[in-house]
Amino acid sequence: MRIDLHAHTTASDGAFTPTGLVDHAAEQGVDVVAVTDHDTVAGCAEAAIAAAGTGVRVVAGIEVSAWQDGMGVHVVGLFVDTADPAFLERLDAFRRERAERARLMVERLNALGLTLSFEDVLAQAGDAVLARPHVARALVASGLVPDIRAAFSDDLLGDGGPAHVPRDGTSPSQAVDLIRSAGGVGVLAHPGCGRSRDGRAGIPDDVVEALAAGGLAGIEVDHPQHPPPVRERLRAMADRLGLVPVGSSDCHGPRDDRGARLGTCTTDPEAFAMLRSLRPARRG
Ligand code: MN
Ligand code: MN
Ligand code: MN
Repeated sequence: MRIDLHAHTTASDGAFTPTGLVDHAAEQGVDVVAVTDHDTVAGCAEAAIAAAGTGVRVVAGIEVSAWQDGMGVHVVGLFVDTADPAFLERLDAFRRERAERARLMVERLNALGLTLSFEDVLAQAGDAVLARPHVARALVASGLVPDIRAAFSDDLLGDGGPAHVPRDGTSPSQAVDLIRSAGGVGVLAHPGCGRSRDGRAGIPDDVVEALAAGGLAGIEVDHPQHPPPVRERLRAMADRLGLVPVGSSDCHGPRDDRGARLGTCTTDPEAFAMLRSLRPARRG
């Protein structure tokens, strides 16, 4: 039983359509795949339909972008109700904030002498949720920078760069609450990645401890970007805090610089069952 609880589709920044992701799961021998697009559940329904009769089981999910002390913290939500009206309304508000943020980044790039329009960015995003990578791709497509790496430099769109507009809207604990309000469970995504303000790698322990006390269900231990010593440390931390250890590929496509292939990291069936059992009871 191969269970991969973190994957993206064209509903956000993934290369696979939701149907394509399910087909890929079948090809790769992945039995359970969670569709976890950035701040949207728009790909879940198509994936569920595509999975019918294939033997692949789709978990409806999301990856919520949150911020804590200027550091991006991602929380994966699993088993969310993709038809919950209050949940969808909150996600819509996120989308409006993201569009506003992209617009501001374009303004700042213009002020730096780079002539890019908001429409250029929209063209890159298509139907997907607007995000900084789309601004970066628009810069490349317009020939204003040589590659994505240059767009994400400290001189432009990198964290703290002059054209970067950080999103400070949602805290990780609010993300966990939002996921729980939609009937799901929260899993802290790739806590070994990123850098906090004091320059230390990964999400600080006290942040994880507070989330664990506040209803977080699981934590990604096995992730393609976690080196073995980080996994060891996170496994011990999961054990200490009573968090379910999760393994996920964070797949963004068939072969992707930023990600890994589906099923590269997987979650134990017992851990998966434990996550399911932690779904909050819902009224009505
Ligand atoms: Mn992504
Ligand atoms: Mn992430
Ligand atoms: Mn992800």
